[in-house]
Amino acid sequence: MKYDRVRDADPQVADALEAEVERQRDTLAMIASENHVSEAVLEAQGSVLTNKYAEGYPGSRYYGGCEHVDTVEELAIERAKELWGAEYVNVQPHSGSQANMAVYFAMLDPGDKILSLDLTHGGHLSHGHHANFTGQLYEVEQYEVDPETGYLDYEVLREHAEEFDPDIVVSGYSAYPREVEWDRIQEAAEAADAYHLADIAHITGLVAAGEHSSPVGVADFVTGSTHKTIRSGRGGIVMTNDEEYADAVDSAVIPGMQGGPLMHNVAGKAVGFEEALEPEFEEYAAQTVANAEALGESLQEHGFGLVSGGTDTHLVLVDLRESHEDVTGKDAEKALEAVGIVLNANTVPGETRSPFVTSGIRAGTPALTTRGFDEDDCRYVGDLIARVVNNVDDEDVKAEVAEDVQELCEANPLYE
Ligand SMILES: *Cc1c(COP(=O)(O)O)cnc(C)c1O
Repeated sequence: MKYDRVRDADPQVADALEAEVERQRDTLAMIASENHVSEAVLEAQGSVLTNKYAEGYPGSRYYGGCEHVDTVEELAIERAKELWGAEYVNVQPHSGSQANMAVYFAMLDPGDKILSLDLTHGGHLSHGHHANFTGQLYEVEQYEVDPETGYLDYEVLREHAEEFDPDIVVSGYSAYPREVEWDRIQEAAEAADAYHLADIAHITGLVAAGEHSSPVGVADFVTGSTHKTIRSGRGGIVMTNDEEYADAVDSAVIPGMQGGPLMHNVAGKAVGFEEALEPEFEEYAAQTVANAEALGESLQEHGFGLVSGGTDTHLVLVDLRESHEDVTGKDAEKALEAVGIVLNANTVPGETRSPFVTSGIRAGTPALTTRGFDEDDCRYVGDLIARVVNNVDDEDVKAEVAEDVQELCEANPLYE
């Protein structure tokens, strides 16, 4: 992949772009929120739609000349409705965080109460963290997973909801390896007469493909990122089945919080959604989950402890304290990055270290699966991770593993 026209205008940026293509080709992207979009999605995102102002919605814009962007946005909406079975969809949020913001701005007033999962237990900044706008605008209490099992405890959540009396209960997580029982969270929300926002940012693709149960039709609002497991253009999406809520969300997005939508990214969403409607996408999603399971089993065979004892999704969360008292999440992340395995240090339930150090690593299979990895490959990746984490300071071992990683990358090429 060459960037000749960028190079003519700006060799420094061209160098960085080409180096990034090489980095993605030569490393294993195991950050669970990442994926590799198709060249069709890349082309749509790099299109002339970046030039167009389209404040408003299809058929009702503030500016003229919107007939073609209307087509693109309508296609994105129609395809999203088909993928997730929602009646109303807003495809304009610039990101997953903005999708959540749209729901909060639509339904809450400053000072209202949010009940959400703690960040160190797998929640997200935009669910109420004190450093985030949500923590500053709203009163937040957080629930946790059961420290013994690593699973959500729906009974405790319900009691917490009854006691705290939130205006909204937020579900959907960044580092929860198990299937979520949406109806049980809905029960907790109803017990407090609160709205329920299910944020499926990580699992949009798994839900679309039927690999994970869907909160659409259960929760009042479903938000998502469009660049994670669904593998479309970078951005966010809001869904609901209630027309009244849909109008409130549309107004919250514009004029409430955004000006012109990123129509080139909406085009990326439309193209990615079309790809996800193909039967091959179901195979992709099923393979992604099977790969995460294989990776988890391999790690367990090497003595690693997994939060919740395994996975139902695209990711595993390793609690290093169970196998490597002295290796922190950061140590493991750094050693693995040095061999070309890129994943992230992650807090674990009952975390005893700071969020910058951590006792865990999170590893996902969406991007590897896009490259064509199967269960055997992922078991082998588990072997490689174990070798590195068992030898974080051994340069010879790391040099050997780096070669093995290169071979895997070459056997599964990317952006040829
Ligand atoms: C990734 C993620 C988001 C935010 O997505 P951005 O597009 O990075 O803003 C929101 N919620 C959850 C649970 C996520 O994992």
